[in-house]
Amino acid sequence: MEKKTTSRRKFLKISALTLGGLIVAERSFDYFSKSKSKGKIVIVGGGAAGITMAAYLTDKLQDPNITIIEPNEIHHYQPGYTMIAGGVFTAEEVLKPNKDLIPRSVTWIKDKVVELNPDNNSLKTEHSGTIDYDYMVLVPGCQLDFNLIEGIDAGRLGEGNAHCIYTHEGSQRCYEALKKMPDLKNGNIIFTDTYTKIKCGGAPKKICLMSDDYLRDHNARDDKSFHYYANGTNLMTPKIYGDRLSELYDERGVKTHYKHRLVSVDTYSKVATFELLPEESPAPTPADANFERINVDFDFLHFVPPMSAPDFVKQSSLTITEGKLSHGGWIDVDSHTLIHKKYANIISFGDASGLPTSKTGAAIRMQAPVAASNLVSIMEGKEPKKSYNGYSACPIVTEYGKVLMAEFGYDKELMPTLPFLDSGVERGMWWLLKKHGLKPMYYHGMLKGLM
Ligand SMILES: Cc1cc2nc3c(=O)[nH]c(=O)nc-3n(C[C@H](O)[C@H](O)[C@H](O)COP(=O)(O)OP(=O)(O)OC[C@H]3O[C@@H](n4cnc5c(N)ncnc54)[C@H](O)[C@@H]3O)c2cc1C
Repeated sequence: MEKKTTSRRKFLKISALTLGGLIVAERSFDYFSKSKSKGKIVIVGGGAAGITMAAYLTDKLQDPNITIIEPNEIHHYQPGYTMIAGGVFTAEEVLKPNKDLIPRSVTWIKDKVVELNPDNNSLKTEHSGTIDYDYMVLVPGCQLDFNLIEGIDAGRLGEGNAHCIYTHEGSQRCYEALKKMPDLKNGNIIFTDTYTKIKCGGAPKKICLMSDDYLRDHNARDDKSFHYYANGTNLMTPKIYGDRLSELYDERGVKTHYKHRLVSVDTYSKVATFELLPEESPAPTPADANFERINVDFDFLHFVPPMSAPDFVKQSSLTITEGKLSHGGWIDVDSHTLIHKKYANIISFGDASGLPTSKTGAAIRMQAPVAASNLVSIMEGKEPKKSYNGYSACPIVTEYGKVLMAEFGYDKELMPTLPFLDSGVERGMWWLLKKHGLKPMYYHGMLKGLM
């Protein structure tokens, strides 16, 4: 019996990895010629984007001189947080020491950048002084601005059953709460998103639908009401995915409330306060605008903090200053070459960049080879040739066993990996990929610069 289970598991893993192989679509990187160009490259941030970029550059340069500045010992596979919150992954399986992931030839400075001085080609660190560079790869990710929700303390996530899966701790506490959710008799279970650009916009929907499914599995759904408070006027764009999610919410009895912005949470009395955004309010709505408020009692809340570029980026001259994206201090790069619009020796992508697409690891998989090729071209004194098309993807878990695979590019154009399938349908094979395939692909493919 045990043998049967093991071989079934093996089969599922192999199927998921095969599917993963199919996903390794267009490769925009030339692995075979090494560039002799020289120059000191400093990568700020050793997350998904930083390590992937280090791997590509190490491969591409004959004599690489690369430094990564990254304060943390441990790398987090953040797409796994949702799976921790749903009890599918353990907390440990999304962690790996950075020393095992950062390429050996790269110098790792375990420190934080506190100031950028692009006019002098230098930056300041907290403990290691000033560091000069010839080229900078600026990829420090998103900052989670928990302080912008009154009553929320980032260090005490889960207090008052108010949860957030956007941190490793938070996702574990959320799973503990999910296990107790069946006992919340006649519970009011509420979910919300936020008004800024965020990483993985699908995550709040995933935890909502997984919680619903979990309760159904435990015969404990009927006495509970589910509500989703969205800042926008739909659940997601492109429309095909938003429409399917709306249908699913209707079928599963999740009531949606649009144009609601969470402003405070009373974790003692379990009350969430929302601002009612007028129909015509701009997106993103300025944080200091004041609108009519409503209070909602909850027994369980999942919320998302506003997000922005890290403060040291916001305080620099590298940010977008005009238009819709000027609110978060995101880095101002060309949407196709990923090169900074003002400083040609700075390149940025990933969550901290102001690229007008969704902030996901899947996007980074496509951005990194473009960024690496273009940086090498610049080092060689040539024009950057590679172009990023805005591809991003979000596997939205709709139940344990099914995923709606959202894939799109700039202007929300659909970019399905398997175009012969109906994109607006959730499928078991995408669940297999999410559960068994994407994590090994991330560690052994993307972070090694192989896909
Ligand atoms: C709950 C959740 C679910 C997700 N689900 C998915 C999914 O299903 N699919 C998907 O593709 N993506 C998903 N993502 C998004 C994905 O994880 C991110 O888009 C990706 O990790 C971003 O990579 P990054 O390198 O830009 O930022 P990060 O991976 O966050 O790395 C940034 C690095 O910069 C470092 N840093 C920060 N400040 C400084 C400083 N001052 N000095 C030096 N270093 C600094 C940080 O320590 C960090 O290591 C999810 C994310 C979350 C949180």
